[in-house]
Amino acid sequence: MNKEFAVVISPHIDDAAISIGEILRGYDKVLVLNVFNKSIETVTGVSKKDVNNHRILEDKKIAQQYGFEFKYANLPDTSLRGIDWNNHNLPIDQELLTQVQEWIKSELDQVEADFRIFIPASYGLHPDHCLATLTFSTGPLLYYLKWIPFFVYCDQPYFLNRKIIKDKHEGHSALEESGTLIAVPFSVVEKRIMLSAYKSQLSPERVKLLAGKNKAEYYWITSHKFFKFFTKNLGGK
Ligand SMILES: [Zn+2]
Repeated sequence: MNKEFAVVISPHIDDAAISIGEILRGYDKVLVLNVFNKSIETVTGVSKKDVNNHRILEDKKIAQQYGFEFKYANLPDTSLRGIDWNNHNLPIDQELLTQVQEWIKSELDQVEADFRIFIPASYGLHPDHCLATLTFSTGPLLYYLKWIPFFVYCDQPYFLNRKIIKDKHEGHSALEESGTLIAVPFSVVEKRIMLSAYKSQLSPERVKLLAGKNKAEYYWITSHKFFKFFTKNLGGK
C-alpha cells in the first residue's frame, strides 16, 4: 500500500484537521485542498474583513508544525452566500458545483506523484460539504476514482452527532451496508495540540468534544458507487 502521499478534499479550512488530522500525520506528504475557504464566520469575534487572512494564518501554523501543504479555491462558504448551514433540502447550485469540479480537477492534474485521496462523506449534509462530495459524482472526477485509491472520511463533529440529522442519506446507508468503517484511535493530547491552531473556529467546549468525548478518527473503505448513491436524494426533493 502506498502510504506516502495523501490529498485531502477539505470543504472548509479546518475540516481536514478536525476529521482526520491525526491520520494525515502518518503520511510523508499531505496536500489539503480547501474549497470554500472564503468566510465571515468565527467564534472569537475577529472582525469580518480579517477572517480570511486570520484563517489562512491558522493553516500556516499547521503547515509549520506538521508539514502539510494547503491550497485554496477561494470560493465563498454558506455564510457568505447567505445560506443556512443546516438547510438540508436546498437544491444543488450547479454552477458552483462546476466551479468546484474544475478547480479540484486542475489541482489533481498538477500532482505528479502517486497519491491517495480522502473525500468527505458529508455527514451532517452541510451544503458546502455536500458540494465537495458531489464533485466526485459525475464527469472526470468520478473517472479518477476508478484508478486513484481513495477513502471516504467521516466529517466531524457531524459524524459524532449523526443521529440528530433526520435527513439520512442513501449514500450513507450504502456505506453502512457495503463499506468497511475504519476507526483510528488518537492521543487526545496530540489531537488537542493540533486543534489549538484553529482558535477562530473552535471553542474550548468544541475542542473537548472533538478530542476527549471523541477518541478516534474514522473513514470508510468503499467503492466509487457511494458517489452515485450520494446524488440520489440531494437537490430538489
Ligand atoms: Zn466544514
